[in-house]
Amino acid sequence: MKCIKQAFDPHNLINPGVLINDNPAVYLENLKHMPPAHEKIDKCIECGFCEIMCPSKHLTSTPRQRITAQRQIAGLRHSGADTSQLKRLEQDYDYWGENTCATDGLCATTCPVAINTGDYTKLLRNQKHGTQANAVANYVGRHFAGTTALIRSGLSLADLLHRTLGTSVMLRVTGTARELSGQRIPLWTPWMPQRGTRPCPSHQHTAAKKPKVVYFPSCSSRTMGPAQGDPDQRALNQAVLSLLEKAGFEVILPADMDSLCCGMAFDSKGFFEAAETKSRELEKALLVSSNNGQYPVLCDTSPCLFRMRQTLDKKLKLYEPVEFIHDFLMQRLIFTKAPETVAIHVTCSSTKMLLAEKFKAVALACVEKIVTPTKVTCCGFAGSKGFDTPELTAAALAQLKPSLPADCRSGYSNSRPCEIGLSQHGGINYQSIVYLVDRCTTRRNLDIREEVLLETTNWV
Ligand code: SF4
Ligand code: SF4
Repeated sequence: MKCIKQAFDPHNLINPGVLINDNPAVYLENLKHMPPAHEKIDKCIECGFCEIMCPSKHLTSTPRQRITAQRQIAGLRHSGADTSQLKRLEQDYDYWGENTCATDGLCATTCPVAINTGDYTKLLRNQKHGTQANAVANYVGRHFAGTTALIRSGLSLADLLHRTLGTSVMLRVTGTARELSGQRIPLWTPWMPQRGTRPCPSHQHTAAKKPKVVYFPSCSSRTMGPAQGDPDQRALNQAVLSLLEKAGFEVILPADMDSLCCGMAFDSKGFFEAAETKSRELEKALLVSSNNGQYPVLCDTSPCLFRMRQTLDKKLKLYEPVEFIHDFLMQRLIFTKAPETVAIHVTCSSTKMLLAEKFKAVALACVEKIVTPTKVTCCGFAGSKGFDTPELTAAALAQLKPSLPADCRSGYSNSRPCEIGLSQHGGINYQSIVYLVDRCTTRRNLDIREEVLLETTNWV
């Protein structure tokens, strides 16, 4: 090989030293220094396969860059060589690495060694919290019903101001207030939700023998209702109850629902203790209402359900809307396709639960055409980032609007916070897929044979 190379390339101009090299120890030289930073990220080979999935890739950093920066920081801490560079890196990482990570973990889905940089980000957030911050988070967790009531009141006030002042004045006033507060006041947009409501207890127990399902409305759907411009002005829980009752289910609501939360709001901010407490409370309540796991549990928000599946008792049969509709409601309802084109957004959690195909199947049962913009991965809203770090959502959804055809006038997803950002940056109103299914279905009268078949093939 060396002779052939020498014959064709006597001056060693083509790919010098790469495939043919005279140095027998070359494999030991010029190795990239990779100081250990943390066991969660140390396996990273810096291949970059994760980068395409990251919502902050065009704004600040990719997962690979975050890990590289953490390695640099760890190396400098260890060597003590350049304290000013270390300080600058640590300061810059706050925004460029930590703050603009949506912690959705989509990076792990394409990483050959399954590194979830979002989990590492949560750990960094956790390490930053002092005793006082943790105490506040625990207090909020203990007084969760009061906290959600407060948020509902805030949304009511904002809604009232919006109706009184109009959209353009409201945008100017809230924009100025946010500016003056040093970006501390959350961003207001016309797609902000109105106040949410809890499910009406009148939908509970009936005398007739029906299959039972526990319905747990997430804290985000209990606090955040539809936006003023959304086509369906019902609260999400009303649409869910309408659908479940149409499909012939008896719905059980967990007791003391106002206090319940899956804990994700705390976990994503690194408040692990408060998150764990909320998980255990929810587990206890759902075990009771599901008769120790006998009845399935439907949560209306996909990211919450994903966390519930990871943290709650495996006896519980947990579903989010898309999977529940696909697996259990499609046989019980008559679908009539609307002559529409709708956009669907498969949330990160649904992607991780491999529900994209079921999502498409449910949507296609309802309408003639669906659009799934391929350039959009995570929406970057991350529960609250769309309010406090809106540039992340803007960067993540920059390609959404150009990907939507002119005849696409509505969008559907399965997470209320994500839908706010999608509506804002898509220019069309996004709501839960439950609304679409409720709109496009009618009751199907099952005969006794079908009812028995469904009962035996399902969980009942
Ligand atoms: S895909 Fe995984 S191994 Fe490759 S750069 Fe990203 S985190 Fe590192
Ligand atoms: S968790 Fe999301 S935002 Fe954070 S690095 Fe991974 S893909 Fe990017």
